[in-house]
Amino acid sequence: MLQQLAFYSILISIIVYILNKIAKTSKFQLIGDYVTHVKTQEKAIALTYDDGPSPIYTNQLLTLLERLQVKATFFVIGKNIEQYTDTVRLIITKGHELGNHSYSHQQLVLKKPSFIREEIEKTEQILHQLGVNQEIHFRAPFGFKLFILPYILSNMGKKNIMWDVDPKDYASSDPDLIENYIIEHIKPGSIILLHDGGSDRSATVAATERIIPKLRNKGYKFKTISELLLLDDS
Ligand SMILES: [Zn+2]
Repeated sequence: MLQQLAFYSILISIIVYILNKIAKTSKFQLIGDYVTHVKTQEKAIALTYDDGPSPIYTNQLLTLLERLQVKATFFVIGKNIEQYTDTVRLIITKGHELGNHSYSHQQLVLKKPSFIREEIEKTEQILHQLGVNQEIHFRAPFGFKLFILPYILSNMGKKNIMWDVDPKDYASSDPDLIENYIIEHIKPGSIILLHDGGSDRSATVAATERIIPKLRNKGYKFKTISELLLLDDS
């Protein structure tokens, strides 16, 4: 009996571990529409920033992006918007796109459907109140997805916007590493994952300043997520 119990608990642990791995990968989702990149011949790409707004780094990025004349997409967290409303207003004024990165940035796997729906709707409402009236795309916290979240998103007519270029800036304080990874992995239609919130993002700001002219020299144009999606020729 004890042996059987041990066997089943190990089996369940293995299944949970595997499901967790699958939920985290940006290349897999069981149901619903998700986007890791856009299929296009055009040398167009999107810079995306998660986990903000975070005044110091978001503001630095806004100044930088304005100087380099690039529009990006900021996947913001509802709680942070409430705390730093002025920064979100600035993102809007400067003409960037805002995306929904949930209200409290918890992983949305193994959560009640009502909780997940509220995480999405609450942030969407706040953004609407601030005057965002275009379609608001969603990105799952930590990239987690799997069963319930994709089902809810597809019911809401929303895509889960993932990425195909992840330089893991959240784990790096070295702009060189971030820059080199992006330059090596970029291709037409790529969505680049970066972070303006959550921690010290000076390496991300520094890497952004370097990659924009380099990618431009290679012929790439910078689009918001909505603009990039329009180029999909699949
Ligand atoms: Zn995040």
